[in-house]
Amino acid sequence: MTLQQILARAVGDDAILNGSHVVDFIDDGSKVTAILEDGRRFEGDLLVGADGIWSKVRKTLFGHSEATFSGYTCYTGIADFVPPDIDTVGYRVFLGHKQYFVSSDVGAGKMQWYAFHKEEAGGTDPENGKKKRLLEIFSGWCENVIDLINATEEEAILRRDIYDRPPTMNWGKGRVTLLGDSVHAMQPNLGQGGCMAIEDGYQLAVELENAWQESVKSGTPMDIVSSLKRYEKERRLRVAIIHGLARMAAIMATTYRPYLGVGLGPLSFLTKLRIPHPGRVGGRFFIMIGMPAMLSWVLGGNSSKLKGRPLSCRLSDKLSRWFEDDDALEEAMGGEWYLFPTSEGNSNSLQPVRLIRDEQRAISVGSRSDPSDSASSLALPMPQISERHATITCKNKAFYLTDLGSEHGTWITDNEGRRYRVPPNFPVRFRPSDVIEFGTDQKAMFRVKVLNTLPYESARRGKQQQQILQAA
Ligand SMILES: Cc1cc2nc3c(=O)[nH]c(=O)nc-3n(C[C@H](O)[C@H](O)[C@H](O)COP(=O)(O)OP(=O)(O)OC[C@H]3O[C@@H](n4cnc5c(N)ncnc54)[C@H](O)[C@@H]3O)c2cc1C
Repeated sequence: MTLQQILARAVGDDAILNGSHVVDFIDDGSKVTAILEDGRRFEGDLLVGADGIWSKVRKTLFGHSEATFSGYTCYTGIADFVPPDIDTVGYRVFLGHKQYFVSSDVGAGKMQWYAFHKEEAGGTDPENGKKKRLLEIFSGWCENVIDLINATEEEAILRRDIYDRPPTMNWGKGRVTLLGDSVHAMQPNLGQGGCMAIEDGYQLAVELENAWQESVKSGTPMDIVSSLKRYEKERRLRVAIIHGLARMAAIMATTYRPYLGVGLGPLSFLTKLRIPHPGRVGGRFFIMIGMPAMLSWVLGGNSSKLKGRPLSCRLSDKLSRWFEDDDALEEAMGGEWYLFPTSEGNSNSLQPVRLIRDEQRAISVGSRSDPSDSASSLALPMPQISERHATITCKNKAFYLTDLGSEHGTWITDNEGRRYRVPPNFPVRFRPSDVIEFGTDQKAMFRVKVLNTLPYESARRGKQQQQILQAA
């Protein structure tokens, strides 16, 4: 949802029409007319059916075809929850018999999780019954799983049956093409369905841009039909391989047997002997040897074709390499800025601090709260904090830190891991993910985080804000 918000802001509201249900289209060779359920018609040079696994555009192009049910239903949830070892572990898979659980750090102090359970498609839960059912299904599982389910609000849990759809050779006809799940819905086990849709979008834009440049150069009309064919040709193989790998990952997760005998009915007594399952041994071998190469390809892909893009990336590459304009990115994120106490050092007593974009009010940081303006001061009664240590200010929507000549200094560690001392009396800009340290004894360390408020959270906002020390 956060990514969608960022993209929507970048595109602009006037380009997006919600509640527009496409039921048909006409491609007359020179333009495409999309027909909506309510009778409205829209004309364009081309139509991209990015309408998901149950795509109407695909059905109109190629007729009805059945999606493949994976045999699993999946509950997903997102919680404000930071596991104690989050700095070293961001992604976990817990495997069991006919069920498994995946948790993933999605940033901003949130964990997303997926709970898969083998059962018939079409099952439903009574109102407010999802959490209860999950706690039953996963009863007896380790704390990492149970804590996360407990920390999730009922309304933040969704349930859906997992289907996929084998990609076809043909993605479109004439001026109409498909993109994302509409043509290659895949199982979620590699976390690649959305990534493939984004890569499709990138390739489609590249092909259309090339066709446009060509038409400007030659003075001929833009050849849309050929550019759509080039787009599908570029994408077909990679998407088909990743679709297959995602299925393989699903099979690995669902046939996991720690010991010989698990799931073998009358032979289950063999588990007592704790003989490692041969599949598990083979799986380990694959994970150690084949997995790194495979994941590098999955993540980096055919990036040799993408100008200036490395074969693989790390999150820390993001701001400096991927986006030429950091300010535009920060603005598009449009979130609320916080200083979160880091897990290092003795910071148990510290609370998150919300930063307000108000150019008139600075937040003063010191060992004592400013009695004349306690709302705008952050008191850190610690040995290395000077009475007037630093200030945090906002200008043109950016935040700055000024050290007031403190004895032990103010330090910033940036996204690339560079640590430097903030010079006295000179405002220094800080950015999301930076770590700010007042003094050097690691007792007052904060990470800068930008939180986006998701729709279901707005109702909880009042509650949340009470818990957060509002510094301004
Ligand atoms: C449990 C689970 C976990 C996942 N985890 C990951 C992950 O970690 N990483 C990852 O990359 N991917 C993941 N995926 C896959 C990812 O969600 C999908 O691949 C991705 O959303 C596909 O995007 P899309 O735009 O093609 O289709 P969708 O996201 O399905 O969007 C299609 C849109 O079209 C609209 N629409 C449908 N019909 C019409 C119509 N007739 N007219 C107008 N609009 C219409 C729909 O309302 C919808 O908004 C996961 C999927 C599941 C189920």
